[in-house]
Amino acid sequence: GSTIGILGGGQLGRMIAMTAAQLGYRCHIYAPEAESVAAEVSAQFTRAAWDDQAAMGAFAASCDVVTYEFENVPVAALQPIPSEKLAPGARALEVAQDRLNEKNFVVELGGTPAPFAPVDTDEDLAAAIAAIGAPGILKTRRDGYDGKGQWRIASADDAATLSVPPVGLIYEGLVRFGAEFSVILVRGRDGEVRFWDSTQNVHEHGILALSFLPAAPIVREQVEAARALARRVADALDYVGVLTLEFFATEDGPVFNEMAPRVHNSGHWTTEGAVIGQFENHVRAICGMPLGETRSVSANVVMRNLVGESGLNAAEILSDPANHLHLYGKAEAREGRKMGHVTRIGE
Ligand code: ATP
Ligand code: MG
Ligand code: MG
Repeated sequence: GSTIGILGGGQLGRMIAMTAAQLGYRCHIYAPEAESVAAEVSAQFTRAAWDDQAAMGAFAASCDVVTYEFENVPVAALQPIPSEKLAPGARALEVAQDRLNEKNFVVELGGTPAPFAPVDTDEDLAAAIAAIGAPGILKTRRDGYDGKGQWRIASADDAATLSVPPVGLIYEGLVRFGAEFSVILVRGRDGEVRFWDSTQNVHEHGILALSFLPAAPIVREQVEAARALARRVADALDYVGVLTLEFFATEDGPVFNEMAPRVHNSGHWTTEGAVIGQFENHVRAICGMPLGETRSVSANVVMRNLVGESGLNAAEILSDPANHLHLYGKAEAREGRKMGHVTRIGE
C-alpha cells in the first residue's frame, strides 16, 4: 500500500492516520516533539526539527503523498518535498499561517474580515486603536492557536500597559456577533468541492468548547455567502484536501475570522454525524480517490471538547449509550489542553 506522510504529531494527525489505516494506507509522522499521539497509531515516526533538510528529504522520499495537520510548519522546511507530493500545497500554508496574509488574501477575494491593521511598534498600536477603535484584540500574526498569543484591549489606556513580544502583530476590532460558525469543505484533485453542514461553534477562553447542529437561524442564513467565499479561497489556492474557514455571523453578514488549511476541531462531529467525515474525505482527496458524501446523517448533532484536567470520566461519558468518545491518548492533562471529544448524534 501507499504511504501518507503527515507533518505534525498531534490529535488531528492521529485521526488522519487512524482513518488512513482503515483505507489501507500506512502513515509516516514527522514532528519535532518526542511525544506524538499521531506516531502512536502510525507505522513510522521521524522525530526531527522542522529545518532538518536531510531528515525532511528522507521523510519525503519514503512517502507517496505528504499532508499536514499543523499550519505552523515553516514554509522553508517544505523545500525538500517535491511539490507534486504535497497536498494541500505550500501556498495554502503560507497564506494561512500568517493572519495578515490570510486577511489580505480573503479581502482580495471579496471577503469581509473585522477591521484590522498590522502592528510592529507601540506607535503602530496607538495608531491602529485610533483608526479602528476599541475594544479590539491584538494577536500575533503567526503561531497562535486556541486563543494563545492574543490580548483583549478595552481602551487605548489599556494598550499602554501591555507588554507584548517583539514579533509581528495584528490589531483587529472586536466583532459583535450573533454566533460563530465554520465552513468546512473538501476539494479533490479534479476541483470538485463538497461542503459539510455548518455547525454553530461556541468558544470558551479562546478554545472551541462546543459545535452543534442545528445552528441558529442567523448562521443558516449566512452559510451560503460564507460557502461562496470558501470556494473562491479553495479554487484560488488550487487546494486539495479539507479546508476550514471560521466566521462570525453578524447583523451585517458573515465576517471572516481565520482559515485553517487542514481538518478542523469544529468538524470532528462529521466522523459520526456525516455520511463521510472530514478525515476520510481528506485522505481520499490527497490520495486522488473519489470524494465521499458529506451530507449529515441527522439534523441534531453535538460535539463537546474535553479540555484540561477536569471532567474526564470516560465511564460517566459512556453511561450515555449514544455518546461517541474520542480520547487522544495524551500522557499528561494540562489546563487548556485538548484531551478528547464526545459526539452525540440525534435528539
Ligand atoms: P484556533 O484554535 O481556532 O486556531 P486562534 O488562537 O487562532 O484559535 P482565533 O480564532 O483568532 O484564535 O480567536 C479565538 C476566538 O476568540 C474566536 O473563535 C472568537 O470567539 C474570539 N475572537 C477572536 N477574534 C475576535 C474578534 N475580532 N472579535 C470577536 N471575537 C473574536
Ligand atoms: Mg487559528
Ligand atoms: Mg480560530
